[in-house]
Amino acid sequence: ADVVTEPGPGAEPAPAPGQLGPPLVELRGVDKHFGALHVLKDIDLTVSRGEVVVIIGPSGSGKSTLCRTINRLETIDSGSIVIDGRELPEEGRDLARLRAEVGMVFQSFNLFAHRTVLENVTLGPIKAKGMKKAEATARATELLERVGVGNQAAKLPAQLSGGQQQRVAIARALAMGPKVMLFDEPTSALDPEMINEVLDVMVGLARDGMTMLVVTHEMGFARRAAHRVVFMDAGEIVEQADPETFFTAPRSERARDFLSKIL
Ligand code: ADP
Ligand code: MG
Repeated sequence: ADVVTEPGPGAEPAPAPGQLGPPLVELRGVDKHFGALHVLKDIDLTVSRGEVVVIIGPSGSGKSTLCRTINRLETIDSGSIVIDGRELPEEGRDLARLRAEVGMVFQSFNLFAHRTVLENVTLGPIKAKGMKKAEATARATELLERVGVGNQAAKLPAQLSGGQQQRVAIARALAMGPKVMLFDEPTSALDPEMINEVLDVMVGLARDGMTMLVVTHEMGFARRAAHRVVFMDAGEIVEQADPETFFTAPRSERARDFLSKIL
């Protein structure tokens, strides 16, 4: 089979919300402007170790910006971002180290076009972490197997389907050994028949206990894997709840309005 649909033997289901670990990502009073546009308004958000949080909300509400601030692809104007107990530095070597702890998967797969699939996964660990090539190759091979593209390792990205490329992008992020994975609309550029093969890999990761922040409108994923849904609108966190509660009984008018458009 080409697709990972089941977590491996011994994998536990996601812990119940009450059994989650200590805070891993903590945003406190985060504000961000683009010129006159106030894109993030006093955001407080804590993601616990092992927790899967889905962020949902209209286009332009600040979801991507929020993800990008968490690994300092965007600066913030005020507030603080703490990852695993350490404040995210503005720049320098500590920033590079902390960034390696935050894996990110984008809508566009962003693979290196002129490198093989295997090299796409080994380059980061070799260059940024000084890993030996043999070790990086062994780990990459294992990760590519895990996301169901082990037999594609020698190919160039363009020879793979979109769903396969996105799974390689997930393997590449995992190769850096992140503590948390951020996904920004990872399936919205995919043909419909490829969406599930990527979501299945993400569900597997979630069941294996990875801490994840996922921007997606895939409610099936939220229901299968998320502990919590966070609804954003116009730069604010408007409400949050477990998926069942959020999708069946949203409290705010804004969430009801949004859900009526996507359901
Ligand atoms: P979402 O991901 O929820 O669609 P974004 O975080 O991408 O929202 O964008 C939030 C707002 O910030 C939008 O109005 C967008 O046009 C604006 N924006 C995003 N990136 C930039 C940028 N680099 N410069 C100026 N405005 C931006
Ligand atoms: Mg976005």
